[in-house]
Amino acid sequence: MTPRPRRPPDVPALALHLGGLEKVWHGQRLDSDPLLFPHRYERPDDREAAAFLASSLAFGRVASINASLERLFAALGPHPASALRKRYGEEAGLEGFVHRWVDAGSLRPFLRAVGRTLKAEGSLGALFAAGDDGGADYVPALDRLFSVLRERTEVSTGRRTRGLTFLLPSPAQGGACKRAHLFLRWMVRSGDDDLGLWQGGGFSPARLLLPMDTHVHRISRYLGLTARPTADLRASREATAWLARIDPLDPVRFDWSLSRLGILAECVRDPRRSRCGDCAVRPVCRAASPSGRPPVLSRATGALPA
Ligand code: SF4
Repeated sequence: MTPRPRRPPDVPALALHLGGLEKVWHGQRLDSDPLLFPHRYERPDDREAAAFLASSLAFGRVASINASLERLFAALGPHPASALRKRYGEEAGLEGFVHRWVDAGSLRPFLRAVGRTLKAEGSLGALFAAGDDGGADYVPALDRLFSVLRERTEVSTGRRTRGLTFLLPSPAQGGACKRAHLFLRWMVRSGDDDLGLWQGGGFSPARLLLPMDTHVHRISRYLGLTARPTADLRASREATAWLARIDPLDPVRFDWSLSRLGILAECVRDPRRSRCGDCAVRPVCRAASPSGRPPVLSRATGALPA
């Protein structure tokens, strides 16, 4: 099938309406996001460790994510970084833990790898910075970080469960790796509710990529930020490149508001349930019909109707 020609977004109009969307969601609904969990801690090391664990389990329904994270952080106690450094994945209270396909048998070696890193390098940021070559984005550095963490699980390749492989992905292989880029957004950006713990050196919001899950991917397609049918690394890079035309120093600043549309079911796949009438980006949304309802994307291809 001949691919449909891509119509580039109208950048000034996109900037105007994304700015409107940003105002709507600025500082709103932290309770709807796993970023809530690192905000519970005061110390930077606890915040960093909590952010990595929270972003790693940020898949599935919000209620399920919150329940799993409540259980995990209860097991780790008031100072998760210290607990990880000391216990190496042998935390009490995680017996029978299951978050979708991540069970206790997957989680424990993951926690062990994080704990070993906190002990060896002092922080995840130190290990990450040591593997950063300063390129256009952080994908190679993320790949190196996860590679070292995989080694530190002490679980050989053939014995890694699906859950452990999912917790320690390989971002350079082309997947969107939304959870890894979400963690970086929290660490590198300041302002809004992002934590800004990683500063100086090569850390710059300009190098971040849009964390792309199925919701953000679908809405990115509606806004013309990408035409790719799958949420992958190329789609994330394409969308980020358009957003960088609006704010080259901070292209992912719109991620919070864009992702609220999906997380809070303002914009869903079922057109009968989307709130297009109230949506700040409706004037630049190529999916919103005159009736104010978006069309259903093709289940097979993810394509917009012709
Ligand atoms: S206008 Fe409708 S379809 Fe477009 S992003 Fe907003 S809620 Fe979604």
